[in-house]
Amino acid sequence: MSYTAKVLEQTIKRNPNEPEFHQAMSEILPTLQPFIDEHPVYEKERILERLVEPERLTVFRVPWVDDKGDIQVNKGYRVQFNSAIGPYKGGLRFHPSVNTGIIKFLGFEQIFKNSLTGLAIGGGKGGADFDPKGKSDREVMSFCQSFICELQRYVGADRDVPAGDIGVGAREIGYMYGQYKRLTGQYEGVLTGKGLTYGGSLVRKEATGYGLVYMVENMLASKNTTFEGKKVVISGSGNVAIYAAEKAAQFGAKIIALSDSGGYIHAPEGVDLELVKQIKEVERGRISEYVKRNDGATYHSDSSVWSLPCDIALPCATQNEILKEHAELLIKNGCKIVAEGSNMSASIDATELFIKSGVYFAPGKAANAGGVAVSALEMAQNSSRIVWSFEEVDCRLRTIMHDIYTNSCNAAQRYGMKGNLVAGANIAGFEKVAEAMLYQGAV
Ligand code: NDP
Repeated sequence: MSYTAKVLEQTIKRNPNEPEFHQAMSEILPTLQPFIDEHPVYEKERILERLVEPERLTVFRVPWVDDKGDIQVNKGYRVQFNSAIGPYKGGLRFHPSVNTGIIKFLGFEQIFKNSLTGLAIGGGKGGADFDPKGKSDREVMSFCQSFICELQRYVGADRDVPAGDIGVGAREIGYMYGQYKRLTGQYEGVLTGKGLTYGGSLVRKEATGYGLVYMVENMLASKNTTFEGKKVVISGSGNVAIYAAEKAAQFGAKIIALSDSGGYIHAPEGVDLELVKQIKEVERGRISEYVKRNDGATYHSDSSVWSLPCDIALPCATQNEILKEHAELLIKNGCKIVAEGSNMSASIDATELFIKSGVYFAPGKAANAGGVAVSALEMAQNSSRIVWSFEEVDCRLRTIMHDIYTNSCNAAQRYGMKGNLVAGANIAGFEKVAEAMLYQGAV
């Protein structure tokens, strides 16, 4: 049995009931074998056994008081997975589905993603099984303050710097930042995704979506084409989806669909993004609202957004939102490019099918790395007390995405897997972390 297969088998056995973490390891570890064959020292030094074990996993109680005066209790998490190349960095997810396996899958992916950005950030992730949907601002504040009361023991500007993810946007980051400052007396860059008046970076809000589109820009360029006139289907209608739609539309694409967990809107002539922003960002409403105010679209809750014919599919909602049957539909309907805005959007068999069928596929750890990259640029601005212009940050983001694309392509080609961005991104991300771990000894 190969080294990577052995580590995978052992780790699954030692961590039962964590299917998403198993899936992330099953997608990553086998692709590293050719690299490890060439560098046997990594097996000798047990780098993979160390990599799959988080440095630390903290689970904590989050009690808070709702608007009726009743006490509610949620579970909070932070995994500090790997600090070989920098302080832990990774978002916080507030969603009822959050559990240890999901936090570990996200944290494990984050190690590779952060390495790919070329910036000095290690891998971490966190969150809670709290659902901000339908809660008042006061309830969300009560929860966030309680959450950070505990989390503040483990984070810090040079230690661990959380950001947003599903259910955590500018509102939640603001409440947590204010409480952190009050508890510690420190005005430091402990969280990213902050508001622009208190240390946030321009382009952070747009970064994941814009970065995703910059990644696809490179994929299209390699096929001598552009976004101009392409039909794009996007799932989700949160932060990543909205700004992917915005940049793709600026590049001349037509965004024909967006969704949320209730269903999707189909707008054959293109989505009105200002209306989507009003409904989602201002009113915190459902995407179904859209068709009540715009008659150029229809709403569907009984079929999948992936059943719509398109040139490019950008999943931007959640993990495993593209299963094999969805991949089959997309391929049958002529989709040529799939790039993951959400983490692990596609199941392993869907990913394999895309690659086998010649659909150009970009995995989340490469394609959605723009968010954490600009978060690291926010950290740099906070440390130096300097604010960069929108153009400067955007230009750095575009360069970073280009470099991630090129490094992933080159790594895939070096190991005989030309065009396979999944293997390429895994190897390119692993190289730097593995070498740093090697030089730091048995820690
Ligand atoms: P938001 O909370 O802003 O939006 C999430 C969107 O996805 C909503 O439209 C939501 O619909 C939908 N969604 C969430 N869970 C499900 C589900 N189980 N089934 C169907 N739809 C669902 O999150 P983000 O846009 O920030 O994050 C989206 C994805 O991008 C996540 O996978 C995240 O990990 C990834 N990502 C985010 C980054 C960031 O900077 N924000 C960085 C890198 C990756 P509803 O409102 O109905 O729940």
